[in-house]
Amino acid sequence: MSSSPTIGVFALQGDVREHVRMLSGLGAQAVGVRRPTELDGLDGIVLPGGESTTMHKLARTFELFEPLRAAIRAGLPAFGTCAGMIMLADTIEGGIEGQETIGGLDVVVRRNAFGRQVDSFETAVDFTPSWSEPFTFPATFIRAPLVEKVGDGVEIVARVAWKQSEDRIVAVRQGRLLATSFHPEITGDARIHELFVDLVRAG
Ligand code: GLN
Repeated sequence: MSSSPTIGVFALQGDVREHVRMLSGLGAQAVGVRRPTELDGLDGIVLPGGESTTMHKLARTFELFEPLRAAIRAGLPAFGTCAGMIMLADTIEGGIEGQETIGGLDVVVRRNAFGRQVDSFETAVDFTPSWSEPFTFPATFIRAPLVEKVGDGVEIVARVAWKQSEDRIVAVRQGRLLATSFHPEITGDARIHELFVDLVRAG
């Protein structure tokens, strides 16, 4: 792995530009991915926030869905934020009829889990990654999903207090797959992208 990995950003839908900016700032070559051939030569891929139902439909329409699934199954490191987390989950709750995910993360994720009345909010989230120092991150949640269940191989990287101070899971990692319920790309704080780039570089 070179010190300047090539990281794709799924670019059929979602907040692509913000991710490209963050990744470039960390010294990665960031490239938009719209076609299957654009997966060639990637060291990692980001699935942005947006709308998972639309991402699914467009990825099917543009025949990116199966190649992306195959690449991730074959070990391509991936980072999903918000809708991207939904796309990486093996199982989702609250999906629409026929909604499929790319999968890879052995988790159950509930869409729009914070309820309709709470469209978006910001809160400080404590991160305790096993592969880096702990830190607190200013997280922005927008119609965010929550991780309801994790399988044995899944590391819980961050939780947030929500309703009766229960701890809800908002960041997970399994091997070289990382996902957050919130949008680290819109804060100007690159530490979570750095966690992902570290996983990519660890190869
Ligand atoms: N609620 C959206 C979905 O289900 C995710 C929202 C987001 O990415 N900000 O895809």
